[in-house]
Amino acid sequence: MLQEPKTIATFSSEEEAHLAANVLQDAGIVSYLEEANVPGALGLSGSMMCEVNLCVAEADQQRAREVLAREKAAAADESATTRCCPKCGADVAAGFDVCWSCEAPLEDAT
Ligand SMILES: [Zn+2]
Repeated sequence: MLQEPKTIATFSSEEEAHLAANVLQDAGIVSYLEEANVPGALGLSGSMMCEVNLCVAEADQQRAREVLAREKAAAADESATTRCCPKCGADVAAGFDVCWSCEAPLEDAT
């Protein structure tokens, strides 16, 4: 008997949903995406709005939620990491190789 698939997350873009699906796949969880058109959500721009549901088997539901929560926390950590420019002391967001203020190259001090 097939297990009832459960929607564990809803995304506003297919890209985000695919990213989450990849994360689950890495964790060994089979998931699939289900596009749900939102009634009456034809935007002012005229573009079609849709939501994408990320679904997993009921048995994987709990684990999938945990995996996504961990991933989210890790992403938040990363974006919160700033480095201090050794030359002028400005806070430079992670991912930048040079200081936005004085353009000094930053040491990889991680
Ligand atoms: Zn600087």
